[in-house]
Amino acid sequence: MCEAKDEKAGKRSLNFIEEIIETDLKNGLNDGRLQTRFPPEPNGYLHIGHAKAICMDFGIAQKYGGVCNLRFDDTNPQKEDTEYVDAIMEDIKWLGFEWGAVYYASDYFEKLWEFAVKLIKEGKAYIDEQTSEEMAAQKGTPTQAGTESPYRNRPIEESLALFEKMNRGEVAEGSMVLRAKIDMANPNMHFRDPVIYRVINRSHHRTGDKWKAYPMYDFAHGQSDYFEGVTHSICTLEFVPHRPLYDYFIDELKDGQDLGDHRPRQYEFNRLNLTYTVMSKRKLLALVQEGLVDGWDDPRMPTVCGLRRRGYSPEAVRGFIDMIGYTKFDALNDYAMLEAAAREDLNARAQRVSAVLNPVKLIITNYPEGQEEELAAQNNPENPADGEHTVTFSRELWMERDDFMEDAPKKFFRMSPGKEVRLKNAYIVKCTGCNKNAEGEITEILCEYDPESKSGMPGADRKVKGTLHWVSCAHARKAEVRLYDRLFNVENPSADERDFRELLNPESLTVLNNCYVEPFAATFKPGSYLQFQRIGYFTPDKHTTDEHLVFNRTVGLKDAWAKKNK
Ligand code: ATP
Ligand code: MG
Repeated sequence: MCEAKDEKAGKRSLNFIEEIIETDLKNGLNDGRLQTRFPPEPNGYLHIGHAKAICMDFGIAQKYGGVCNLRFDDTNPQKEDTEYVDAIMEDIKWLGFEWGAVYYASDYFEKLWEFAVKLIKEGKAYIDEQTSEEMAAQKGTPTQAGTESPYRNRPIEESLALFEKMNRGEVAEGSMVLRAKIDMANPNMHFRDPVIYRVINRSHHRTGDKWKAYPMYDFAHGQSDYFEGVTHSICTLEFVPHRPLYDYFIDELKDGQDLGDHRPRQYEFNRLNLTYTVMSKRKLLALVQEGLVDGWDDPRMPTVCGLRRRGYSPEAVRGFIDMIGYTKFDALNDYAMLEAAAREDLNARAQRVSAVLNPVKLIITNYPEGQEEELAAQNNPENPADGEHTVTFSRELWMERDDFMEDAPKKFFRMSPGKEVRLKNAYIVKCTGCNKNAEGEITEILCEYDPESKSGMPGADRKVKGTLHWVSCAHARKAEVRLYDRLFNVENPSADERDFRELLNPESLTVLNNCYVEPFAATFKPGSYLQFQRIGYFTPDKHTTDEHLVFNRTVGLKDAWAKKNK
Protein backbone atom coordinates (compact mmCIF):
# COMPACT_ATOMS: atom_id res chain seq x y z
CA MET A 1 0.00 0.00 0.00
CA CYS A 2 1.09 3.53 -0.52
CA GLU A 3 2.38 4.84 2.79
CA ALA A 4 5.08 6.92 4.37
CA LYS A 5 7.89 5.18 6.20
CA ASP A 6 8.11 5.57 9.93
CA GLU A 7 11.87 5.39 10.26
CA LYS A 8 12.02 5.03 14.02
CA ALA A 9 9.50 2.25 14.30
CA GLY A 10 11.10 0.60 11.28
CA LYS A 11 7.70 0.13 9.67
CA ARG A 12 5.39 2.16 7.54
CA SER A 13 3.05 4.58 9.21
CA LEU A 14 -0.59 4.60 8.19
CA ASN A 15 -1.97 7.25 5.91
CA PHE A 16 -5.08 9.07 7.11
CA ILE A 17 -7.47 6.95 5.03
CA GLU A 18 -6.00 3.77 6.48
CA GLU A 19 -6.45 5.20 9.95
CA ILE A 20 -10.12 5.87 9.19
CA ILE A 21 -10.58 2.36 7.81
CA GLU A 22 -8.90 0.71 10.78
CA THR A 23 -11.16 2.65 13.13
CA ASP A 24 -14.30 1.84 11.12
CA LEU A 25 -13.43 -1.84 10.96
CA LYS A 26 -12.71 -1.90 14.69
CA ASN A 27 -16.04 -0.23 15.41
CA GLY A 28 -17.86 -2.73 13.21
CA LEU A 29 -19.30 -0.15 10.84
CA ASN A 30 -21.12 -1.82 7.94
CA ASP A 31 -20.70 -5.11 9.86
CA GLY A 32 -16.97 -4.76 9.55
CA ARG A 33 -17.12 -4.95 5.77
CA LEU A 34 -14.79 -3.01 3.51
CA GLN A 35 -15.94 -2.35 -0.03
CA THR A 36 -14.46 0.30 -2.28
CA ARG A 37 -14.85 1.11 -5.94
CA PHE A 38 -12.82 2.73 -8.65
CA PRO A 39 -15.25 4.87 -10.67
CA PRO A 40 -13.73 6.11 -13.93
CA GLU A 41 -15.80 7.86 -16.55
CA PRO A 42 -15.09 6.02 -19.82
CA ASN A 43 -14.37 9.25 -21.68
CA GLY A 44 -10.60 8.97 -21.93
CA TYR A 45 -7.58 6.88 -21.05
CA LEU A 46 -6.32 6.61 -17.51
CA HIS A 47 -3.48 8.88 -16.47
CA ILE A 48 -1.06 8.74 -13.59
CA GLY A 49 -3.51 10.71 -11.43
CA HIS A 50 -5.97 7.87 -11.86
CA ALA A 51 -3.18 5.47 -10.95
CA LYS A 52 -2.98 7.23 -7.60
CA ALA A 53 -6.72 6.69 -7.05
CA ILE A 54 -6.38 3.07 -8.22
CA CYS A 55 -3.54 2.38 -5.76
CA MET A 56 -5.77 3.72 -3.02
CA ASP A 57 -9.08 2.08 -3.97
CA PHE A 58 -7.67 -1.34 -4.86
CA GLY A 59 -4.68 -1.21 -2.54
CA ILE A 60 -6.70 -0.54 0.57
CA ALA A 61 -9.23 -3.28 -0.21
CA GLN A 62 -6.34 -5.68 -0.73
CA LYS A 63 -4.61 -4.63 2.46
CA TYR A 64 -7.67 -5.00 4.70
CA GLY A 65 -9.28 -8.05 3.07
CA GLY A 66 -12.07 -6.13 1.39
CA VAL A 67 -13.17 -5.88 -2.21
CA CYS A 68 -12.79 -3.16 -4.78
CA ASN A 69 -15.18 -3.13 -7.71
CA LEU A 70 -14.77 -1.37 -10.98
CA ARG A 71 -17.62 0.95 -11.81
CA PHE A 72 -17.85 2.83 -15.05
CA ASP A 73 -19.44 6.14 -14.37
CA ASP A 74 -21.13 6.30 -17.75
CA THR A 75 -23.81 8.90 -17.26
CA ASN A 76 -22.82 11.19 -20.13
CA PRO A 77 -23.14 9.55 -23.56
CA GLN A 78 -21.64 12.61 -25.27
CA LYS A 79 -18.07 11.65 -24.63
CA GLU A 80 -18.11 8.01 -23.63
CA ASP A 81 -17.05 5.03 -25.64
CA THR A 82 -16.36 1.31 -25.24
CA GLU A 83 -12.83 1.89 -26.55
CA TYR A 84 -12.18 3.63 -23.25
CA VAL A 85 -13.83 0.88 -21.21
CA ASP A 86 -11.45 -1.69 -22.68
CA ALA A 87 -8.40 0.53 -22.28
CA ILE A 88 -9.23 1.29 -18.64
CA MET A 89 -9.52 -2.41 -17.83
CA GLU A 90 -6.21 -3.16 -19.52
CA ASP A 91 -4.45 -0.40 -17.60
CA ILE A 92 -5.81 -1.46 -14.20
CA LYS A 93 -4.66 -5.03 -14.82
CA TRP A 94 -1.28 -3.81 -15.97
CA LEU A 95 -0.90 -1.80 -12.78
CA GLY A 96 -1.32 -5.11 -10.97
CA PHE A 97 -4.83 -4.90 -9.54
CA GLU A 98 -7.90 -7.09 -9.74
CA TRP A 99 -11.45 -5.93 -9.36
CA GLY A 100 -14.29 -7.86 -7.78
CA ALA A 101 -17.27 -7.07 -10.03
CA VAL A 102 -17.62 -4.73 -12.99
CA TYR A 103 -20.56 -2.35 -12.72
CA TYR A 104 -21.85 0.48 -14.84
CA ALA A 105 -23.73 3.48 -13.51
CA SER A 106 -25.97 2.96 -16.55
CA ASP A 107 -27.12 -0.30 -14.93
CA TYR A 108 -28.92 1.90 -12.43
CA PHE A 109 -30.72 4.22 -14.87
CA GLU A 110 -34.04 2.53 -14.15
CA LYS A 111 -33.61 2.70 -10.37
CA LEU A 112 -32.39 6.27 -10.53
CA TRP A 113 -35.34 7.20 -12.70
CA GLU A 114 -37.74 5.69 -10.16
CA PHE A 115 -35.98 7.54 -7.38
CA ALA A 116 -36.28 10.82 -9.28
CA VAL A 117 -39.98 10.19 -9.90
CA LYS A 118 -40.42 9.51 -6.18
CA LEU A 119 -38.75 12.82 -5.35
CA ILE A 120 -41.01 14.67 -7.80
CA LYS A 121 -44.08 12.99 -6.29
CA GLU A 122 -42.96 14.02 -2.83
CA GLY A 123 -42.54 17.60 -3.97
CA LYS A 124 -38.74 17.33 -3.67
CA ALA A 125 -37.88 17.84 -7.34
CA TYR A 126 -39.26 19.89 -10.20
CA ILE A 127 -38.74 20.58 -13.88
CA ASP A 128 -37.11 23.94 -14.54
CA GLU A 129 -37.47 25.42 -18.01
CA GLN A 130 -35.09 28.32 -17.55
CA THR A 131 -31.82 28.61 -19.40
CA SER A 132 -28.65 27.62 -17.61
CA GLU A 133 -27.65 31.33 -17.57
CA GLU A 134 -30.87 32.28 -15.81
CA MET A 135 -30.38 29.55 -13.24
CA ALA A 136 -26.77 30.56 -12.69
CA ALA A 137 -27.83 34.17 -12.12
CA GLN A 138 -30.22 33.02 -9.38
CA LYS A 139 -27.65 30.90 -7.54
CA GLY A 140 -26.46 33.72 -5.30
CA THR A 141 -23.09 33.56 -3.58
CA PRO A 142 -21.94 31.57 -0.56
CA THR A 143 -22.80 34.55 1.64
CA GLN A 144 -25.91 35.64 -0.22
CA ALA A 145 -29.03 33.52 -0.64
CA GLY A 146 -30.12 32.57 -4.12
CA THR A 147 -33.44 33.33 -5.78
CA GLU A 148 -36.08 30.66 -6.25
CA SER A 149 -36.93 29.60 -9.77
CA PRO A 150 -40.36 30.64 -11.06
CA TYR A 151 -40.90 26.94 -11.82
CA ARG A 152 -40.08 25.79 -8.32
CA ASN A 153 -43.62 25.33 -7.16
CA ARG A 154 -45.18 24.11 -10.37
CA PRO A 155 -47.73 21.29 -9.99
CA ILE A 156 -46.27 17.83 -9.42
CA GLU A 157 -48.26 16.38 -12.34
CA GLU A 158 -46.74 18.93 -14.68
CA SER A 159 -43.22 18.02 -13.62
CA LEU A 160 -43.94 14.31 -13.98
CA ALA A 161 -45.29 14.79 -17.50
CA LEU A 162 -42.36 16.96 -18.54
CA PHE A 163 -39.85 14.54 -17.05
CA GLU A 164 -41.35 11.83 -19.29
CA LYS A 165 -41.11 14.15 -22.25
CA MET A 166 -37.48 14.89 -21.48
CA ASN A 167 -36.77 11.21 -21.55
CA ARG A 168 -38.59 10.57 -24.81
CA GLY A 169 -36.28 12.99 -26.55
CA GLU A 170 -39.15 15.33 -27.31
CA VAL A 171 -37.45 18.40 -25.93
CA ALA A 172 -34.27 20.09 -27.02
CA GLU A 173 -31.08 19.68 -25.01
CA GLY A 174 -30.83 22.45 -22.45
CA SER A 175 -34.46 23.45 -22.72
CA MET A 176 -35.38 21.91 -19.38
CA VAL A 177 -33.78 20.09 -16.46
CA LEU A 178 -34.91 18.28 -13.35
CA ARG A 179 -33.78 20.01 -10.17
CA ALA A 180 -33.90 18.78 -6.60
CA LYS A 181 -35.91 21.18 -4.46
CA ILE A 182 -33.71 21.63 -1.43
CA ASP A 183 -32.72 25.07 -0.16
CA MET A 184 -31.87 28.15 -2.21
CA ALA A 185 -30.39 29.84 0.88
CA ASN A 186 -28.12 27.00 2.00
CA PRO A 187 -24.53 28.17 2.55
CA ASN A 188 -23.44 25.06 0.66
CA MET A 189 -24.06 26.04 -2.94
CA HIS A 190 -24.57 22.40 -3.93
CA PHE A 191 -27.84 22.44 -1.98
CA ARG A 192 -29.30 25.30 -3.98
CA ASP A 193 -31.67 23.20 -6.04
CA PRO A 194 -29.00 21.23 -7.89
CA VAL A 195 -29.72 19.99 -11.39
CA ILE A 196 -30.14 16.22 -11.18
CA TYR A 197 -31.22 15.28 -14.73
CA ARG A 198 -30.56 16.80 -18.11
CA VAL A 199 -31.42 15.90 -21.69
CA ILE A 200 -28.78 14.46 -23.98
CA ASN A 201 -30.18 13.47 -27.34
CA ARG A 202 -27.51 10.92 -28.09
CA SER A 203 -27.17 7.18 -28.15
CA HIS A 204 -25.50 5.71 -25.12
CA HIS A 205 -22.71 3.16 -25.63
CA ARG A 206 -24.61 0.62 -23.53
CA THR A 207 -28.27 1.62 -23.26
CA GLY A 208 -28.66 2.81 -26.84
CA ASP A 209 -31.69 5.08 -27.27
CA LYS A 210 -33.62 3.93 -24.24
CA TRP A 211 -32.88 7.09 -22.29
CA LYS A 212 -32.66 10.71 -23.24
CA ALA A 213 -32.74 12.10 -19.71
CA TYR A 214 -29.46 11.37 -17.96
CA PRO A 215 -28.63 11.77 -14.25
CA MET A 216 -25.93 14.21 -13.16
CA TYR A 217 -22.84 13.03 -11.26
CA ASP A 218 -24.25 14.02 -7.84
CA PHE A 219 -27.44 12.11 -8.52
CA ALA A 220 -25.70 8.96 -9.70
CA HIS A 221 -22.50 8.53 -7.76
CA GLY A 222 -23.65 8.18 -4.16
CA GLN A 223 -26.71 6.19 -5.17
CA SER A 224 -24.55 3.79 -7.16
CA ASP A 225 -22.34 3.38 -4.09
CA TYR A 226 -25.45 2.66 -2.04
CA PHE A 227 -26.93 0.14 -4.51
CA GLU A 228 -23.66 -1.78 -4.60
CA GLY A 229 -22.99 -1.74 -0.87
CA VAL A 230 -19.85 0.38 -1.03
CA THR A 231 -18.64 1.21 2.46
CA HIS A 232 -15.82 3.67 1.74
CA SER A 233 -16.25 5.89 -1.27
CA ILE A 234 -12.83 7.40 -1.68
CA CYS A 235 -12.35 10.31 -4.05
CA THR A 236 -10.35 13.50 -4.47
CA LEU A 237 -10.56 16.72 -2.49
CA GLU A 238 -12.66 18.70 -4.97
CA PHE A 239 -15.60 16.56 -3.85
CA VAL A 240 -15.46 17.73 -0.24
CA PRO A 241 -18.24 20.31 -0.80
CA HIS A 242 -20.34 17.64 -2.54
CA ARG A 243 -20.25 15.34 0.48
CA PRO A 244 -23.32 16.79 2.27
CA LEU A 245 -25.35 16.34 -0.90
CA TYR A 246 -23.99 12.79 -1.23
CA ASP A 247 -25.32 12.08 2.26
CA TYR A 248 -28.60 13.91 1.60
CA PHE A 249 -29.52 11.75 -1.40
CA ILE A 250 -28.62 8.58 0.46
CA ASP A 251 -30.89 9.64 3.30
CA GLU A 252 -33.67 10.28 0.80
CA LEU A 253 -33.01 6.96 -0.89
CA LYS A 254 -33.18 4.90 2.26
CA ASP A 255 -36.62 6.40 2.67
CA GLY A 256 -37.07 6.20 6.40
CA GLN A 257 -35.36 2.81 6.78
CA ASP A 258 -33.01 2.65 9.67
CA LEU A 259 -29.70 1.85 8.03
CA GLY A 260 -27.94 1.97 11.36
CA ASP A 261 -24.29 2.06 10.53
CA HIS A 262 -24.85 0.65 7.05
CA ARG A 263 -24.21 3.31 4.50
CA PRO A 264 -21.47 4.44 2.16
CA ARG A 265 -19.28 7.28 3.36
CA GLN A 266 -17.21 9.56 1.21
CA TYR A 267 -13.56 10.34 2.05
CA GLU A 268 -11.26 12.61 0.08
CA PHE A 269 -7.50 12.73 -0.56
CA ASN A 270 -5.33 15.09 -2.59
CA ARG A 271 -5.20 14.79 -6.36
CA LEU A 272 -1.95 14.05 -8.08
CA ASN A 273 -0.67 17.02 -10.04
CA LEU A 274 2.63 16.70 -11.84
CA THR A 275 5.00 19.35 -13.14
CA TYR A 276 5.49 19.85 -16.89
CA THR A 277 2.32 18.00 -17.80
CA VAL A 278 -1.46 18.22 -17.61
CA MET A 279 -3.96 15.76 -16.16
CA SER A 280 -7.14 17.16 -17.62
CA LYS A 281 -8.78 14.57 -19.85
CA ARG A 282 -10.17 17.36 -22.00
CA LYS A 283 -6.68 18.67 -22.74
CA LEU A 284 -5.18 15.21 -23.21
CA LEU A 285 -7.98 14.39 -25.65
CA ALA A 286 -7.28 17.62 -27.55
CA LEU A 287 -3.60 16.70 -27.85
CA VAL A 288 -4.60 13.36 -29.33
CA GLN A 289 -7.34 14.64 -31.63
CA GLU A 290 -5.27 17.51 -32.94
CA GLY A 291 -2.36 15.22 -33.70
CA LEU A 292 -0.04 17.07 -31.34
CA VAL A 293 1.04 13.71 -29.92
CA ASP A 294 1.08 10.20 -31.35
CA GLY A 295 -2.10 8.95 -29.67
CA TRP A 296 -3.09 8.37 -26.06
CA ASP A 297 -0.07 6.14 -25.63
CA ASP A 298 2.46 8.64 -26.93
CA PRO A 299 5.41 8.09 -24.59
CA ARG A 300 5.30 11.78 -23.60
CA MET A 301 1.73 11.51 -22.32
CA PRO A 302 1.10 11.16 -18.57
CA THR A 303 -1.32 8.35 -19.39
CA VAL A 304 -0.81 4.86 -18.00
CA CYS A 305 -0.50 3.48 -21.55
CA GLY A 306 1.94 6.28 -22.41
CA LEU A 307 4.12 5.43 -19.43
CA ARG A 308 3.95 1.77 -20.40
CA ARG A 309 5.06 2.52 -23.96
CA ARG A 310 7.76 4.77 -22.55
CA GLY A 311 9.18 1.82 -20.66
CA TYR A 312 7.91 2.39 -17.13
CA SER A 313 7.10 -0.74 -15.16
CA PRO A 314 3.95 -0.97 -13.03
CA GLU A 315 6.25 -1.23 -10.01
CA ALA A 316 7.87 2.09 -10.92
CA VAL A 317 4.49 3.80 -11.16
CA ARG A 318 3.35 2.31 -7.86
CA GLY A 319 6.71 3.14 -6.30
CA PHE A 320 6.26 6.77 -7.24
CA ILE A 321 2.78 6.86 -5.74
CA ASP A 322 4.21 5.34 -2.58
CA MET A 323 6.77 8.12 -2.46
CA ILE A 324 4.27 10.96 -2.68
CA GLY A 325 1.67 9.44 -0.37
CA TYR A 326 -1.85 10.63 0.45
CA THR A 327 -2.70 13.83 2.28
CA LYS A 328 -5.52 16.34 2.62
CA PHE A 329 -3.62 19.12 0.87
CA ASP A 330 -3.29 19.69 -2.84
CA ALA A 331 0.25 19.96 -4.15
CA LEU A 332 2.23 19.92 -7.35
CA ASN A 333 4.55 16.93 -7.49
CA ASP A 334 7.89 17.06 -9.21
CA TYR A 335 8.17 15.11 -12.46
CA ALA A 336 11.76 14.38 -11.45
CA MET A 337 10.42 12.23 -8.61
CA LEU A 338 8.57 10.05 -11.09
CA GLU A 339 11.79 9.69 -13.05
CA ALA A 340 13.73 8.89 -9.90
CA ALA A 341 11.23 6.12 -9.14
CA ALA A 342 11.71 4.77 -12.66
CA ARG A 343 15.51 4.79 -12.33
CA GLU A 344 15.41 3.00 -9.01
CA ASP A 345 13.14 0.30 -10.38
CA LEU A 346 14.88 -0.07 -13.74
CA ASN A 347 18.33 -0.25 -12.23
CA ALA A 348 17.28 -3.48 -10.64
CA ARG A 349 15.47 -5.00 -13.61
CA ALA A 350 16.85 -3.60 -16.88
CA GLN A 351 18.95 -5.85 -19.11
CA ARG A 352 22.22 -4.14 -20.03
CA VAL A 353 22.95 -3.79 -23.72
CA SER A 354 25.29 -1.69 -25.85
CA ALA A 355 23.95 0.92 -28.19
CA VAL A 356 25.70 3.77 -29.94
CA LEU A 357 23.43 6.72 -30.61
CA ASN A 358 25.79 9.10 -32.36
CA PRO A 359 28.25 6.79 -34.07
CA VAL A 360 31.78 7.30 -35.31
CA LYS A 361 33.99 4.47 -36.50
CA LEU A 362 36.82 3.19 -34.32
CA ILE A 363 39.50 1.12 -36.07
CA ILE A 364 41.79 -1.06 -34.01
CA THR A 365 44.73 -0.99 -36.37
CA ASN A 366 46.72 -3.80 -34.77
CA TYR A 367 43.73 -6.19 -34.57
CA PRO A 368 43.85 -8.77 -37.38
CA GLU A 369 41.46 -8.14 -40.21
CA GLY A 370 38.67 -10.71 -40.36
CA GLN A 371 39.21 -11.82 -36.77
CA GLU A 372 36.23 -11.98 -34.38
CA GLU A 373 35.91 -12.82 -30.71
CA GLU A 374 32.92 -13.73 -28.64
CA LEU A 375 33.08 -11.95 -25.29
CA ALA A 376 30.91 -12.43 -22.25
CA ALA A 377 28.69 -9.57 -21.06
CA GLN A 378 26.61 -9.64 -17.90
CA ASN A 379 22.92 -9.08 -18.51
CA ASN A 380 22.50 -7.20 -15.27
CA PRO A 381 25.27 -6.77 -12.72
CA GLU A 382 22.58 -5.85 -10.16
CA ASN A 383 21.12 -9.31 -10.57
CA PRO A 384 23.67 -12.02 -11.48
CA ALA A 385 20.83 -14.54 -11.86
CA ASP A 386 19.91 -12.78 -15.12
CA GLY A 387 22.99 -14.42 -16.62
CA GLU A 388 25.18 -13.39 -19.51
CA HIS A 389 25.11 -13.01 -23.24
CA THR A 390 27.92 -12.76 -25.76
CA VAL A 391 29.04 -9.76 -27.73
CA THR A 392 31.20 -9.94 -30.81
CA PHE A 393 34.42 -7.97 -30.91
CA SER A 394 36.13 -7.14 -34.17
CA ARG A 395 38.55 -4.72 -35.80
CA GLU A 396 35.99 -2.03 -36.64
CA LEU A 397 33.61 -0.76 -34.01
CA TRP A 398 31.07 2.01 -33.61
CA MET A 399 31.66 4.28 -30.67
CA GLU A 400 29.98 7.54 -29.55
CA ARG A 401 31.28 10.61 -31.32
CA ASP A 402 31.11 12.50 -28.02
CA ASP A 403 33.50 10.01 -26.46
CA PHE A 404 36.35 11.37 -28.55
CA MET A 405 38.20 14.68 -28.31
CA GLU A 406 41.22 15.55 -30.37
CA ASP A 407 42.50 18.18 -27.95
CA ALA A 408 41.12 16.97 -24.68
CA PRO A 409 41.38 18.76 -21.36
CA LYS A 410 43.13 16.91 -18.57
CA LYS A 411 39.96 15.63 -16.97
CA PHE A 412 38.62 14.06 -20.15
CA PHE A 413 38.87 10.35 -19.39
CA ARG A 414 37.49 9.10 -22.67
CA MET A 415 39.17 8.67 -26.06
CA SER A 416 41.85 11.14 -27.09
CA PRO A 417 45.20 10.72 -28.84
CA GLY A 418 47.86 9.15 -26.66
CA LYS A 419 45.45 8.06 -23.91
CA GLU A 420 44.23 4.65 -22.84
CA VAL A 421 40.66 3.57 -22.19
CA ARG A 422 38.96 0.26 -21.71
CA LEU A 423 36.39 -0.94 -24.20
CA LYS A 424 33.63 -2.45 -22.09
CA ASN A 425 33.95 -6.23 -21.64
CA ALA A 426 36.91 -6.21 -24.05
CA TYR A 427 40.39 -4.71 -24.21
CA ILE A 428 42.32 -1.64 -23.23
CA VAL A 429 43.08 0.45 -26.29
CA LYS A 430 45.37 3.41 -26.85
CA CYS A 431 44.21 6.09 -29.25
CA THR A 432 46.68 6.85 -32.01
CA GLY A 433 44.82 9.58 -33.89
CA CYS A 434 41.96 10.12 -36.28
CA ASN A 435 41.15 10.57 -39.96
CA LYS A 436 39.15 13.48 -41.29
CA ASN A 437 37.33 14.25 -44.50
CA ALA A 438 37.82 17.34 -46.68
CA GLU A 439 35.46 19.34 -44.44
CA GLY A 440 37.60 18.56 -41.45
CA GLU A 441 35.02 16.23 -39.96
CA ILE A 442 36.30 13.26 -38.07
CA THR A 443 35.48 10.10 -40.00
CA GLU A 444 37.50 7.47 -38.18
CA ILE A 445 39.27 7.16 -34.91
CA LEU A 446 42.32 4.99 -34.75
CA CYS A 447 43.70 2.99 -31.86
CA GLU A 448 45.79 -0.01 -30.92
CA TYR A 449 44.72 -2.68 -28.49
CA ASP A 450 46.72 -4.48 -25.85
CA PRO A 451 46.04 -8.23 -26.34
CA GLU A 452 47.01 -8.90 -22.70
CA SER A 453 44.33 -6.61 -21.32
CA LYS A 454 41.20 -8.60 -22.11
CA SER A 455 38.56 -8.20 -19.38
CA GLY A 456 38.74 -11.03 -16.90
CA MET A 457 42.28 -12.07 -17.85
CA PRO A 458 45.07 -12.04 -15.27
CA GLY A 459 46.80 -8.71 -15.49
CA ALA A 460 43.78 -7.08 -17.07
CA ASP A 461 43.13 -4.95 -14.04
CA ARG A 462 45.59 -2.30 -15.09
CA LYS A 463 44.02 0.99 -14.13
CA VAL A 464 42.51 3.13 -16.84
CA LYS A 465 40.18 5.97 -16.01
CA GLY A 466 37.47 5.49 -18.65
CA THR A 467 35.39 2.60 -19.93
CA LEU A 468 33.57 3.11 -23.21
CA HIS A 469 30.72 1.18 -24.80
CA TRP A 470 30.91 0.08 -28.42
CA VAL A 471 29.28 -2.21 -30.95
CA SER A 472 30.93 -4.16 -33.74
CA CYS A 473 30.29 -2.58 -37.16
CA ALA A 474 29.90 -5.90 -38.90
CA HIS A 475 27.42 -7.22 -36.34
CA ALA A 476 25.50 -4.24 -35.02
CA ARG A 477 21.91 -3.59 -36.04
CA LYS A 478 20.76 -0.20 -37.23
CA ALA A 479 18.07 1.32 -35.05
CA GLU A 480 15.87 4.36 -34.66
CA VAL A 481 16.01 5.80 -31.18
CA ARG A 482 13.45 8.26 -29.84
CA LEU A 483 14.54 10.57 -27.07
CA TYR A 484 11.71 12.09 -25.08
CA ASP A 485 11.72 15.16 -22.95
CA ARG A 486 9.08 17.08 -20.98
CA LEU A 487 5.87 17.53 -22.92
CA PHE A 488 5.46 21.10 -21.68
CA ASN A 489 7.94 23.91 -21.28
CA VAL A 490 6.44 25.39 -18.15
CA GLU A 491 6.32 23.87 -14.72
CA ASN A 492 2.60 24.19 -14.21
CA PRO A 493 0.78 24.45 -17.54
CA SER A 494 -2.63 24.26 -15.84
CA ALA A 495 -1.94 27.47 -13.93
CA ASP A 496 -0.78 29.34 -17.03
CA GLU A 497 -3.08 31.85 -18.70
CA ARG A 498 -1.88 31.01 -22.19
CA ASP A 499 -3.49 28.27 -24.24
CA PHE A 500 -1.91 24.97 -23.25
CA ARG A 501 -0.94 24.28 -26.87
CA GLU A 502 1.39 27.27 -26.79
CA LEU A 503 3.19 25.79 -23.83
CA LEU A 504 4.20 22.53 -25.51
CA ASN A 505 7.91 21.85 -25.55
CA PRO A 506 8.95 21.82 -29.25
CA GLU A 507 11.92 19.67 -28.30
CA SER A 508 9.95 17.02 -26.47
CA LEU A 509 10.85 14.43 -29.12
CA THR A 510 14.19 13.92 -30.85
CA VAL A 511 14.39 11.08 -33.34
CA LEU A 512 17.83 9.61 -34.01
CA ASN A 513 17.87 7.56 -37.18
CA ASN A 514 21.45 6.52 -37.30
CA CYS A 515 21.97 4.45 -34.17
CA TYR A 516 23.47 1.01 -33.77
CA VAL A 517 22.61 -1.62 -31.20
CA GLU A 518 24.21 -4.94 -30.48
CA PRO A 519 22.24 -7.93 -31.89
CA PHE A 520 21.16 -9.02 -28.38
CA ALA A 521 19.17 -5.75 -28.05
CA ALA A 522 17.15 -6.67 -31.12
CA THR A 523 15.84 -9.83 -29.45
CA PHE A 524 13.66 -7.93 -26.97
CA LYS A 525 9.95 -7.27 -27.44
CA PRO A 526 7.96 -4.18 -26.46
CA GLY A 527 7.40 -4.27 -22.71
CA SER A 528 11.02 -5.26 -22.05
CA TYR A 529 13.25 -3.12 -19.89
CA LEU A 530 16.69 -2.29 -21.21
CA GLN A 531 19.61 -0.16 -20.18
CA PHE A 532 21.74 1.23 -22.98
CA GLN A 533 24.96 1.25 -21.04
CA ARG A 534 26.21 4.69 -20.05
CA ILE A 535 23.17 6.32 -21.70
CA GLY A 536 19.89 5.50 -20.04
CA TYR A 537 16.91 3.19 -19.87
CA PHE A 538 15.16 2.22 -23.09
CA THR A 539 12.39 -0.02 -24.29
CA PRO A 540 11.41 -1.34 -27.74
CA ASP A 541 8.55 0.73 -29.11
CA LYS A 542 5.27 -0.95 -30.08
CA HIS A 543 6.11 -0.19 -33.74
CA THR A 544 9.50 -1.89 -33.66
CA THR A 545 9.93 -4.65 -36.26
CA ASP A 546 12.73 -7.01 -37.15
CA GLU A 547 13.54 -4.88 -40.18
CA HIS A 548 13.17 -1.53 -38.49
CA LEU A 549 14.16 -1.46 -34.84
CA VAL A 550 12.71 1.37 -32.76
CA PHE A 551 13.58 2.12 -29.15
CA ASN A 552 12.08 4.69 -26.78
CA ARG A 553 14.10 6.33 -24.07
CA THR A 554 12.36 5.85 -20.76
CA VAL A 555 14.67 8.06 -18.74
CA GLY A 556 18.33 9.02 -18.74
CA LEU A 557 20.73 7.57 -16.19
CA LYS A 558 20.95 10.91 -14.42
CA ASP A 559 18.62 13.82 -13.99
CA ALA A 560 19.80 15.99 -16.89
CA TRP A 561 16.88 18.38 -16.52
CA ALA A 562 17.85 19.55 -13.04
CA LYS A 563 21.25 20.68 -14.33
CA LYS A 564 19.92 22.23 -17.53
CA ASN A 565 17.61 24.56 -15.65
CA LYS A 566 20.02 25.76 -13.01
P1 ATP B 1 -13.04 14.37 -15.71
O1 ATP B 1 -12.16 15.50 -16.18
O2 ATP B 1 -13.69 13.63 -16.82
O3 ATP B 1 -13.89 14.61 -14.51
P2 ATP B 1 -11.42 12.80 -13.96
O4 ATP B 1 -9.95 12.94 -14.16
O5 ATP B 1 -12.07 13.27 -12.74
O6 ATP B 1 -11.97 13.36 -15.27
P3 ATP B 1 -12.75 10.24 -13.66
O7 ATP B 1 -12.81 9.20 -14.68
O8 ATP B 1 -14.00 10.86 -13.19
O9 ATP B 1 -11.76 11.32 -14.23
O10 ATP B 1 -11.90 9.77 -12.43
C1 ATP B 1 -11.99 8.49 -11.82
C2 ATP B 1 -11.39 8.53 -10.46
O11 ATP B 1 -10.03 8.94 -10.52
C3 ATP B 1 -12.09 9.54 -9.57
O12 ATP B 1 -12.31 8.92 -8.31
C4 ATP B 1 -11.14 10.66 -9.45
O13 ATP B 1 -11.25 11.32 -8.22
C5 ATP B 1 -9.78 9.98 -9.63
N1 ATP B 1 -8.82 10.92 -10.18
C6 ATP B 1 -8.91 11.61 -11.33
N2 ATP B 1 -7.86 12.42 -11.49
C7 ATP B 1 -7.05 12.25 -10.41
C8 ATP B 1 -5.80 12.81 -9.98
N3 ATP B 1 -5.16 13.71 -10.71
N4 ATP B 1 -5.28 12.38 -8.81
C9 ATP B 1 -5.91 11.45 -8.08
N5 ATP B 1 -7.08 10.89 -8.41
C10 ATP B 1 -7.66 11.28 -9.57
MG1 MG C 1 -14.46 13.03 -12.73
